[in-house]
Parts: sequence; C-alpha cells; structure tokens
Amino acid sequence: MEVAKPHVAVLPNMGLGHLIPHLELAKRLVVHHGFHVSFLVITTNEPSAAQDQLLCSPHIPPDLHIVRLPPVDVDKITLDNDDVLVLTRLCTITAESLRSLKSVLTDLGKPKALVTDLFATQAFDVCKELSIPAYLYSTTSAAFNAFMLYLPQLDSDVDIEFIDLPEPIQVPGCSPIRTNDLVDQVRNRKIDEYKWLFYHVSRLPLASGILINSWEDLEPMSIKSIQENPLFKQIPTPPVYPIGPLIRQDETLSNTANLECLEWLDKQPPDSVLFLTFGSGGTLSFEQQTELALGLELSQQRFIWVVRKPTDTAGAGAFFHAGEVNENDPKVYLPEGFLDRTQGVGLVVSSWAPQVSILGHPSTGGFLSHCGWNSALESIVHGVPMIAWPLYAEQRMNATWLTEDIGVAVKPKMEAGERVVGREEIERVVRGVMEGEEGKVIRRRVKELKESAAKALDSDGDSYGSLSCVVNHWKN
Ligand code: UDP
Repeated sequence: MEVAKPHVAVLPNMGLGHLIPHLELAKRLVVHHGFHVSFLVITTNEPSAAQDQLLCSPHIPPDLHIVRLPPVDVDKITLDNDDVLVLTRLCTITAESLRSLKSVLTDLGKPKALVTDLFATQAFDVCKELSIPAYLYSTTSAAFNAFMLYLPQLDSDVDIEFIDLPEPIQVPGCSPIRTNDLVDQVRNRKIDEYKWLFYHVSRLPLASGILINSWEDLEPMSIKSIQENPLFKQIPTPPVYPIGPLIRQDETLSNTANLECLEWLDKQPPDSVLFLTFGSGGTLSFEQQTELALGLELSQQRFIWVVRKPTDTAGAGAFFHAGEVNENDPKVYLPEGFLDRTQGVGLVVSSWAPQVSILGHPSTGGFLSHCGWNSALESIVHGVPMIAWPLYAEQRMNATWLTEDIGVAVKPKMEAGERVVGREEIERVVRGVMEGEEGKVIRRRVKELKESAAKALDSDGDSYGSLSCVVNHWKN
C-alpha cells in the first residue's frame, strides 16, 4: 500500500518577487524531499496574467497543488486614499484574504507545517489556533533579515527619524548602514508603510523557524551574526535556516519576443552582452532613461534592454508582467535615432524579458539591475557581474552590500545635487564592467560564488542540509 506523502502548505504574497521564490521552495519540497505541497495563492478580483502564467507552468510537479484563496474584492476594502503606497496596499489585501485561512487549512486536513511570507504573519495566529507549526520564508538577504530582526530594538532606542541620524546605523550582522540607503518603508515612521513593516517584523519571533534565500558563503557575517550574536540572543530569534539560492530554474518562453532575445544572443560572442532590466516594477524618469540610452550608445557595448514607459516615481505602481500585451512602443521613449544608431549592437525589448534564460546564456557578460534580491541571486547563480542601479524598497541596501561586501557589482557615481546619472558616468561603468580591470575583478568573484552556490544546493551542501533539517522536523 502506498504511504501518503507528508503534507505542508506554502503561503506567498502576491508580488512576483515573492511568488517566484516561494514556488521554487515548494517545487524543491516536492521533488527533493518527497512532500505534497498545497500552494496557497492570494487572489483579487483584478486578473493577473503574470500570476496565471507562473502558476499554469508545465514545470509544476504533480504533487504541488495550487489552492487559490477566495478573491479579495479590492473595490470593497478600505484603502484610505488613491495615493496608498505599494506595501500598504499589499498588506491590506493580504490581511483581508487571510480571513479565509483557517477554514482553508482545516479543509486541507491540517498540513504538518505552514511556510508563510513576511507580509502574511497573521497566519501565525491561525496556525497557533490549529496547532500547526508556522515558519517564515524570507525572500530577501540575510543582511536585510538582520536589519528587520533588529528594527524593534532600533525603534525603541531612536527618537528621531532614522534618516536624520548623523551616523550610519550599526546593526549586528550588517556593515554600518548609511541612512541614504535605508529601505523606503523606514524613512518616515509616521506613515502606514512603516506601521505595516513594523507590525510584521515585530512578529518574526513568533515563527518556529526562518528560512532565508541565501547561503553561508554569500553572507557569512550576517548569517553567523543572526545565529550567534549575543545581541540577537536578547531578541527572541527563531532558528534561522539559510536554504538558498533558490531561483527560477525553468522559465516558460511564452512569446516570440522572448525567443527573439535568445536567438539574438546566440549570434553574439561569449560574455559580450549587457542585460538591463529593473525587476517587476522598476521604471526610470524620462530624463534618466535618455541619459542611460546615450551612455549605452557611447560605451559601444552590446546590450539587451527592457525599456518601459518612463515615470517620475521609480517603480511606483508600474508593475509590468511576463506575458502581458505591451501597449508601449519603446521608440516613443528613446532619444531620436537611438534605435537606428544601435541596430545590430543592441536589442530593445518592451516591458519584460526572459531574465533567467538571458542571464544563463553564454553571451551575457553583465547585468544592469535594480538589485531586487531575486535578480541579484539569479545573476550570481549564473556568474554574471552586475551594475547596481537601485530604485526602491530595500534595493539601495542590497546594492551597497553587493558592491562593498560581496564584491560582485559596481555602482555608478552620482554627484551631490545631481538628479540623474549622466551619460559619461554610464559609459564609464558599462565599459568598466564589460571590458575593464574592475570588471575582471568582480567577474572572478561572481564566478567563485556561482560555484559555491551550486555546491550549497548539492545533496551534501550547506543549504540542502539546512532545508533537510527543517523538513525532518516536519516529517517527524
Ligand atoms: N523578471 C523577468 N524579466 C524582467 C524583469 C524581471 O523575468 O524583465 C523576473 C526576475 O527574473 C525576477 C523577478 O522578475 O525573478 C523580479 O524579482 P526581484 O526580487 O529581482 O525584484 P522585484 O520585482 O521584487 O522588485
């Protein structure tokens, strides 16, 4: 008689940057550890082509069951005004959606554990009621996790706004954090964005364990610090399990534009192409986009650039998605003649490109990235050095760590008082990474980390061991 597989539930929030790594974790639990996984999806009355495409992928294994939570009617929930910011909107929708969690988990026959996302910690209370151990899967760096775990302490120690502190902020496990780099949500402690972040991070100690999408060799100081630092011992910190890097393995190439990118790459020399894109929501101002175009042109390097309609607020609500029909013709937003002058050297794609396949292609030699954590991991796993171009959320912190601590990126310089990075500086960094000495150094470092990432996930590697340790708790 066949023995039933152990059953766990995984609960991501709606953002693609969260859905993707949670789905990869779920697949790993099924494929490597023999679990049956219920993947709980928060939905709204607004359709999401990106979500559908991801969840209908042919690469989803049979024991991974997608369970859509009842849709939240976003028109009916109170979002105080039209200017409500991204995190507040996300957390409000999530809170509403999780009202159904207790009955969903009960109907599913009470899984052995629930793994939840940072912005869904209300699930801890439901799990407590149902006596289900609740774990958190944090899809950001170990350094950012150290910052989050320490935030309640900072909040009680500091009276003024953090951005007004005269010195960089000392957090155990992180290099001193410059106030300019601080995550958007802590730059004004009076608004809802901060309150939501604070609410969820204050609840981290309620988790039975925290899984982090990172690995020992990538962030030794942060991981050791969270696990051992006496300061963290005073803050009730659950066991931390570095289980990464879990990145998307198999991208569905849904349209001809996707295939065109890869066919174009096939014709380019090894390590010769710079890939530019800004995550699922990043956009540039018109002025910045123009400078980037002219800087790229001056650099004379090959490139694939995902061009979006410029906005004044980096990434504000402008979420573009895989598979969505593009109404925006990039020609309209680029300097006159740019496409003709760069024909053959560069390829401009509108809105979205198959990032993982591009980063894994031998012709790709550099990545100009907004430094979302998934993008950073995808670049490192494929051994591609980065130009760090942070826009929003915790990306400025990531950019500094990737540049100064991990050594796989360079950051363009911006003089005090400048609104944009100028074309000459862009030319300098692009050339530097693609053919200069600086590029050689970070390329060597990223290739080392590529090897170490693969080792960490091997069946005798640290990250594999870490996840095995957690799943053994669940199985027993
Ligand atoms: N992505 C992509 N094509 C694009 C832009 C983004 O496939 O043109 C994917 C990327 O591979 C990554 C995710 O979208 O898996 C973005 O996640 P990340 O954490 O880097 O940034 P976020 O979107 O959360 O800001």
